[in-house]
Amino acid sequence: MKVNWNALQGGEESRRRFFERIGLGLFYTAAGAFAQQLTLTPEQTLGPYYPDRMPLDRDNDLIILNDNITPAVGTVTWLSGKVLGRNGKPMRGALVEIWQADNNGAYIHSQSPIANRDANFQGYGRFVTGSSGEYLFRTVKPGLYPGRTRHIHYQITTPAGERLVTQCYIEGEPLNNSDGILNGIRDAAQRASVIVPFTPIPDSRIGELAARFDIVMGFTPADPPADRPYILPENGVVNGAGFQSGVTPGAWISIFGDNFATTSRVWNTSDIVQGKLPTELEGVRVTINGKPAAIYYVSPSQLNVQAPDDTAQGPVQVVVTNSFGASNPVTVQLQPVLPGFFLFDRFYVSAARPDGSLVAPSGLFPGQLTRPASPGELIVLYGTGFGPTIPTVPAGEVFQGSAQTANNVQVRMGGLSAEVRFAGLVSAGLYQLNVIVPNLADGDHDVVATVAGVRTQPLARLRVQRG
Ligand code: FE
Repeated sequence: MKVNWNALQGGEESRRRFFERIGLGLFYTAAGAFAQQLTLTPEQTLGPYYPDRMPLDRDNDLIILNDNITPAVGTVTWLSGKVLGRNGKPMRGALVEIWQADNNGAYIHSQSPIANRDANFQGYGRFVTGSSGEYLFRTVKPGLYPGRTRHIHYQITTPAGERLVTQCYIEGEPLNNSDGILNGIRDAAQRASVIVPFTPIPDSRIGELAARFDIVMGFTPADPPADRPYILPENGVVNGAGFQSGVTPGAWISIFGDNFATTSRVWNTSDIVQGKLPTELEGVRVTINGKPAAIYYVSPSQLNVQAPDDTAQGPVQVVVTNSFGASNPVTVQLQPVLPGFFLFDRFYVSAARPDGSLVAPSGLFPGQLTRPASPGELIVLYGTGFGPTIPTVPAGEVFQGSAQTANNVQVRMGGLSAEVRFAGLVSAGLYQLNVIVPNLADGDHDVVATVAGVRTQPLARLRVQRG
């Protein structure tokens, strides 16, 4: 089995590769080292066009609405950055909201200054930062509307409820010099801090841009309580592959917070007794709706666990316990299905060929052979949370074999329907989809699976290359 658990653990290494990939070479190794030099991101007006009716789809991919095939019109832009406290510490669990004009200059607001709105553009998105404080959106370069230079609106809300409203601008835009709101920022360093380069991504077939906008809040991240385990109240309990908030029985779940374990490790064979997966590792235990979860990985700030079987649905409590006591209970939605793909290096679906070789862009992992997918070939995708199987497989136990999903699984790649030859459980909590790659052009394509009407996460991609 070739699931990359490092990718799931979202470490510094994968973050570094992400920034190398988009060619900016920027990453922070020691945030505290430059704490003195931080410029606070200035407060700017909310403006009149914060959505007056929220779109149903509010994820961090603004160019694809639900499982629409047609993307938004415009120059695709990968917008990322960190949310930092004034001391340079990453702000975890911060809600980042963006809203902006589409390629035509129109907002999704009912009073939009421009009427011919792109119906395929989401116009608004949200993202909750993890332990690195980082956020990511895929959007389009904002269009122009009368009276303003190009800009993207931001609102950041910390877990403690502090709020910053600001705007981000594009370096080199001719109208920047005459924009009243931008030039209303009196402090030159603060004004410069909201203007960022939108840089072409090397080798992008469709001319994508990358932009990085770090946000320094005028607050200090709240320190967690001294010894007890602490679960992040916002997005602290997520699908272990797709990072969507929620819990599905039998699925791999990641829990983010503090003071979980004093060391980091995965289970080993001696932890597994008579086919039962451990429910305690390094003194750490997890309950979901009062039932013990199997624990694969413990660390001070992240746990990977398998959700126990449960027939309940709706809000349930998750609690982490160690020798210092029980954590804050965090409420999450227990749902029968919440599928997610495991990823290679943050963006690419973890995929392999029947011979075990990895399907991914060439050179993605130093020292490991990876090759893009070819149209017509059978590849194997890995994920979790695809729901009940036939026959039923109990959670918390070793499983070897295969059990088909009870619900039909559909897969789309680059907007085309892909033939699914098999969809089912192949190991505890681990689902495998055997899929024929449709006839796609060279380049990166979105991959979406749908089961019982629920989609996998946005921004999972497959690299295709012929011959
Ligand atoms: Fe605006």
